Amino acid sequence: MNVRPRVLLVDSNSDDRALAALVLRRELPDVEVEEVADGMVLADRLPAGGFAAVVTEYRLDWGDGLQVLETVRSLAPDCPVVFFASEGSESVAAHGLRNGLSAYVVKGSAGYVELPAAVRRVIERHTEQRASREGLALFQRLTEELALGTFVAVADGRLTAANLAFARVLGFESEDALVGRNLAEFLSDAALQAQVLASLSRGRTLRDLEAGVRRNDGGLAWVRMALWPVVDPVQGVVRFEGAVEDITGHRKAERELSERAAALGRSNVDLQQFAYVISHDLQEPLQLISRYARLLASNGAGAAGGDSKRYVTNMVQCADRMQVMINDVLAYSRVDTQGRPFKTVDFAELVQQAIGNLKAAIDETGAQVSWDLLPVLAVDGAQMVQLFQNLIGNALKFRRERPAVRIYAVEDSDRVTFAVADNGIGISAEHLERIFGMFQRLHTAAEYPGTGIGLAICKRIVERHGGRIWAVSEVGRGSTFCFTIPRVLKPVSGGVAPETKG
Ligand code: ADP
Repeated sequence: MNVRPRVLLVDSNSDDRALAALVLRRELPDVEVEEVADGMVLADRLPAGGFAAVVTEYRLDWGDGLQVLETVRSLAPDCPVVFFASEGSESVAAHGLRNGLSAYVVKGSAGYVELPAAVRRVIERHTEQRASREGLALFQRLTEELALGTFVAVADGRLTAANLAFARVLGFESEDALVGRNLAEFLSDAALQAQVLASLSRGRTLRDLEAGVRRNDGGLAWVRMALWPVVDPVQGVVRFEGAVEDITGHRKAERELSERAAALGRSNVDLQQFAYVISHDLQEPLQLISRYARLLASNGAGAAGGDSKRYVTNMVQCADRMQVMINDVLAYSRVDTQGRPFKTVDFAELVQQAIGNLKAAIDETGAQVSWDLLPVLAVDGAQMVQLFQNLIGNALKFRRERPAVRIYAVEDSDRVTFAVADNGIGISAEHLERIFGMFQRLHTAAEYPGTGIGLAICKRIVERHGGRIWAVSEVGRGSTFCFTIPRVLKPVSGGVAPETKG
């Protein structure tokens, strides 16, 4: 819609006003001219707004041009004002210009000729200014809407301007907090800082830089950043402008996706292992049962009483073994399906609980179990107790002499490595990996009781906590089982949220 610009003509002398209106209407046919004689009507008309300019005589019956200027400034601040003054004096003009007057035309025959051109210039300038203000406002709305951070910096990295979106990425409530700070100080590592500072000092453009930035609250956000020099033909590079897109959400989604893919891969391996266990390990007792049953059936009533009793006893033993194995498989699968949310716990307490559960075996073997200073971490406490119980239990079971078990932890910035060391029979190097598989044993049940599920469960518990488990050993001297627990815990499966460490 193309609305004709409107000019408000203020003059209490009706003859002069009529003449000025006539000239304006004749010379500026695309402009609508409205006339006002007194101040009340002026104050009434202005707020409705939409005037492209106000043209006013300086001397009015009810006041002067400066009053008109003041009224316009307060009621329609963007509207330009032109003095069309019969009594031209430089001081009036200077005063007016200081107060935001846009033009000054002296009345008289030349003035009536000059007025339309002056008004047109003022309107054009005003229209341009408004368009550029609107453009800027649109740009600002867009950058805020797209959460696109923008900034201006000088060659040493100092920020001279920034928008609210950039401030928010960095965890500030106002863009003012960024002005005067150095862009480099927000970058998360030294290599990035060097790269950005080098681009600035050489006046180079940087595009698609993915950078970690430190937030005001100490957290880390990820941004995609671009910056480019603004070059003045005479002065060279005068400043740098930049845009910053918050990609923390994308990064998080990417990481979750790859974690899920890894979890899926693990659960595929688990499925294969389950299939193998069902088809192989569980079939073994089943085949024995069916073999004894066939023997019983074929011998029928002719079988010697002793034989049939033995067959039945063997069948019952096999069935019992199968039941134990099925329970083991269930216990193994429950590590993921019945895992609990992670909570901050003291590992010294967990270890003492595990030791308490093993009291009978410790008393029986006269074992000495000791532990060093242990950390506080967010974990599934019940599973950790089971993990220590399985490892300490094995140390007692696979003993050589009076068992001595030591539990200790080595702390790193991102994880803690736990160790359970014993003085038992040891494991030869070629079996060190295999023993973590389901139903993998190195001994017969007659030598050492067990089904071979303990370490498989340990491995699954550690992996649910995002860690790794392994063993080092020397045959005849002892073994040390180690596992890691990341400090920032995220359950790998089971979908429970970690409780942050207090
Ligand atoms: P189980 O104890 O029922 O046999 P595990 O999965 O706990 O099952 O252990 C698997 C195998 O690893 C054991 O049969 C044993 O041969 C070996 N092993 C586990 N812990 C130790 C240990 N502390 N010292 C020596 N060998 C061990």
